[in-house]
Amino acid sequence: MARNIGSQYTTHRVLGRGSAGTVWLGEGPQGPVAIKLLREDLATDPELAERFAHERHALLGLEHPHIVGVRDLVIGGEDGQDLALVMDLVRGPDLRTHLERERRLAPHEAVAITAQIAAGLSVAHAAGIVHRDIKPENILLEPAADGTGTPPTALLTDFGVAKLIDEPRHGGKGGVVGTPDYVAPEIVEGLPPRAAVDIYALVTVLYELLAGFTPFGGGHTGAVLRRQVTETAARLPGVPDPLWEVLQQCLAKAPASRLRAAELASRLREILPSLEGLPPLDIGDPDGADEPQEPADPPRPAPGPLPAAVPLVRADIPDDERATHTRMRVPDAEELAGGAHGTARTPRAPGQARAGSARHAAAARRKRRLAITVAAGVLAVVAVGGWLLTGGGDDDSNSHRPPHTTTGEPALAP
Ligand code: ADP
Repeated sequence: MARNIGSQYTTHRVLGRGSAGTVWLGEGPQGPVAIKLLREDLATDPELAERFAHERHALLGLEHPHIVGVRDLVIGGEDGQDLALVMDLVRGPDLRTHLERERRLAPHEAVAITAQIAAGLSVAHAAGIVHRDIKPENILLEPAADGTGTPPTALLTDFGVAKLIDEPRHGGKGGVVGTPDYVAPEIVEGLPPRAAVDIYALVTVLYELLAGFTPFGGGHTGAVLRRQVTETAARLPGVPDPLWEVLQQCLAKAPASRLRAAELASRLREILPSLEGLPPLDIGDPDGADEPQEPADPPRPAPGPLPAAVPLVRADIPDDERATHTRMRVPDAEELAGGAHGTARTPRAPGQARAGSARHAAAARRKRRLAITVAAGVLAVVAVGGWLLTGGGDDDSNSHRPPHTTTGEPALAP
């Protein structure tokens, strides 16, 4: 059912849902638009409304062929409850949907998309605006109007929204804005986010488009953040040298070592012709989806903590909030120094199970079961021996306690 937003806009149907609100297909004086209605708790926060009003000029002033234009801001609306961004309507899917369909993109397509977004970023950075939440969900693909098979145009959306929502009352204190897989190491270490964080995130997206997985993703949020600080991205087999150099340079831990957006755009454009015709990289799928599946284990009753999930981040953030990936607690120095045993998604030889994959988990479960069986057997022998030595069942308190019940438990601990 159509709903009025302010005096000039109406919403028709949902286009997508994000962490900060819902994006609707709408209608305005100039025709169809996309309207991002912020979540009610955000929309009714007077401080946030004030910040949006304050940034109105910057948000509306960003114009570039690879940035989704913000046409208007509705603050208050008819019933005083709305906080909405009115944007140009993009008719294609977001890059996440496209990547999920394709699994991996051919290097030429991946680099062309990244170069376009880098060009858009250079304009924003020149205007002093940092995006702070670059990820495939925030890159939209507009199909060519002529229908001649021209590749779609990539546009970056959600500019400045992450920053506005993050200010102190909305998790800024000690939190990290962004999505763990794309968060630059300096943010995890508590430094202020400068333009280089967008470069890190964008090149992480490029890596993901090529590989089908991010360089440091997988497992618990705390483990991912720790890897962002401490680990080096594994080289993707088959990536041409000049492209790998760019990836490495922009994934550098030191922000000053990364290319700037305009440099990144031009380096990628230089490399593009040499990538023409290359197929997507031939590397294993991180979740074992392209491998023969092991028979599933019988369902387990209680979903306790996963053996690989190390609780670096205390569970003081509700799960649904973590799933939105926009705010995280920064692990402290001790946590960052180690302890998390999550595994970065390292490319591996064909046939080898990737840590964290279904096959790897099944192998680990088999090992654990074997260890438990052996431990129980040893303990049973010891217990029977002890029982015989102490007079064989005279003591009532021990007689009805099966030896493996109490002593077998530690073998289950990871
Ligand atoms: P998030 O908050 O997770 O960054 P958004 O709220 O920006 O996500 O967007 C959610 C979804 O809405 C996107 O993945 C996309 O499918 C759709 N969407 C966002 N902006 C537009 C737009 N300008 N035109 C068309 N669809 C859009």
